[in-house]
Amino acid sequence: MITTALKRPVYDAIDRFTFRQNDFLRFFLEAGGWSYERLRDYQLQKVREICCHWGYEVWAWDDFHRLPLTDKRDLDRVQPPAGRYSTQTTSGSTGEPRTVYIPWQTWHRKDALFHRSWRWLGREPHQPVLRLIAGRPHYAWYDWWRNDKVICRDEVERQVEYVIKHRPYLIHGPGLPIRRLCEAVIQAGYEDVLKDIRVEWCSTSPEGHRARLEPYLAGFHEQYGLAELPTVGSPCPYSTHVVMETGVVEVVDGEIVVTDFNNTLTPILRYRTGDEGKMRESDCPCGRAFPILYDVKGRRCDYYDGPEVRQPVGWWLVSPLGHNYLDTISAWRVEVYPRDGVVRLFVVFKEGEDYEALGPYRDWVQAELGLTCAVFACDNADRWKRNLVRVYTDEVKDS
Ligand SMILES: [Zn+2]
Repeated sequence: MITTALKRPVYDAIDRFTFRQNDFLRFFLEAGGWSYERLRDYQLQKVREICCHWGYEVWAWDDFHRLPLTDKRDLDRVQPPAGRYSTQTTSGSTGEPRTVYIPWQTWHRKDALFHRSWRWLGREPHQPVLRLIAGRPHYAWYDWWRNDKVICRDEVERQVEYVIKHRPYLIHGPGLPIRRLCEAVIQAGYEDVLKDIRVEWCSTSPEGHRARLEPYLAGFHEQYGLAELPTVGSPCPYSTHVVMETGVVEVVDGEIVVTDFNNTLTPILRYRTGDEGKMRESDCPCGRAFPILYDVKGRRCDYYDGPEVRQPVGWWLVSPLGHNYLDTISAWRVEVYPRDGVVRLFVVFKEGEDYEALGPYRDWVQAELGLTCAVFACDNADRWKRNLVRVYTDEVKDS
């Protein structure tokens, strides 16, 4: 209690001068109260600017809606820019990653939007939030004063310890690591701790995880985003709202299409996400004007926990492919047949069918799951998006 009382004024002061996230957070908090019309005016102004930057003349929304749609294959033509930027390899969650150039402010916007959504979800600044991320956390001081605890999503023991000791208001992260953490807390005999904790996740198999955790947790909130953009959908207590201050979100033929009006390095213009979703005018009890995003389907991975596998099957099964095998393959998809003891890996080879290069992955699957991995070459990856990890619990199908 004393440390909280002491650290707050000190770090409030340091924070004010140090962190760019705050400028964005202030803006987002203010814009969160704008009317829909005002948000649209703001968007149109920004859309004009970014379209002009890429050589398109846009004066009205009609002009914008006439621009061609783009998709990730268009990103291959983008050259590395000069100046300050970071590169992000869009994951593996599509089974077909791309390198994208991102202005460094995108990270600050993303971070600020997370903070805003936690506030929308009722979190007070003194209440801790546990955030699970891939890799090592970088900004420990910043997180410490803000009562955000960032822990690598694989360090389950540290996560459990933190949850039991600090009882965070909210856990933020991908679905599977949150599930793993909660199961470990339950197993340690502390399930009572979970009943006041809510989660904000971007989940690849939300129904399964939700069904498992619903009896224990206080609430579930869906965040939606892509690696190459600031957050696209931010939750309030009742729905997921489209973020209007960083881009334009459209639904075209059932597909979510996004425009980032701050990325001047990579043209994310009417960019097809490959995810399905629906959008409607806000009638949300929270009173915010941002449209509501719902029925989002994308980047699904099955989850399976049965006696045939050494550990539950999930998204992690394809994760090494995006990290270690991009020289060899450009796209992939996995089918798991636990009853037959087989994992089928379908890939698009970059040059020549180099099955041997995938040997370490096959060994890894064998060691982790206890199943044999067979590799199949394919010509293209069309329509793979929503089938990245499929589990078949019946007999093997002919293919
Ligand atoms: Zn709302």
